[in-house]
Amino acid sequence: AATFTDFNLKEFGEEITEEMQLLVKGAQIISYSHIGKETEVTLDKNLLKNSVVNLITNAVKYSGENAKIEFTTEINKGACTIMVKDNGIGIPKEDQKYLFDAFFRAHNTGSIPGTGLGLNIVARHISLMGGEITFNSTVNKRTLFTLLFEKT
Ligand code: ATP
Ligand code: MG
Repeated sequence: AATFTDFNLKEFGEEITEEMQLLVKGAQIISYSHIGKETEVTLDKNLLKNSVVNLITNAVKYSGENAKIEFTTEINKGACTIMVKDNGIGIPKEDQKYLFDAFFRAHNTGSIPGTGLGLNIVARHISLMGGEITFNSTVNKRTLFTLLFEKT
């Protein structure tokens, strides 16, 4: 089960960015921004960190050495949204429906290593927190993962 606490999402985002910037490939840059003047959220910090680290790890892994990875958090009246966007290899349309299945990997990953478990675990963690995960991707153009937590 999830353990909810109040924490500052903007500070959380800054910390993860600093940690993940040490693990990028080549000249990749992780660019973080927080949108909205509100910064407090009530979520499971450990589950959220694990999820965001997984998404950024994928963005690093599946994009080139000069990639700019955009990490954004937003809090508005109704919801908290967390986005990770890259301009890497993308996910083929025909593979997209299986993306959250355990051990599934898309057909364009070539020699990039992975077990296909990361997103399956992320999806379960987001669901434990009552959130939603969606994505949008075009091969060789861009991939955007979005986590959405609606306020109740
Ligand atoms: P690991 O278990 O080590 O995370 P993985 O990265 O292969 O292995 P997932 O994170 O579950 O597994 O991702 C599943 C598949 O989704 C990947 O194998 C890849 O095909 C595709 N994928 C995920 N994120 C991206 C991304 N940002 N760009 C392109 N493809 C992606
Ligand atoms: Mg992964």
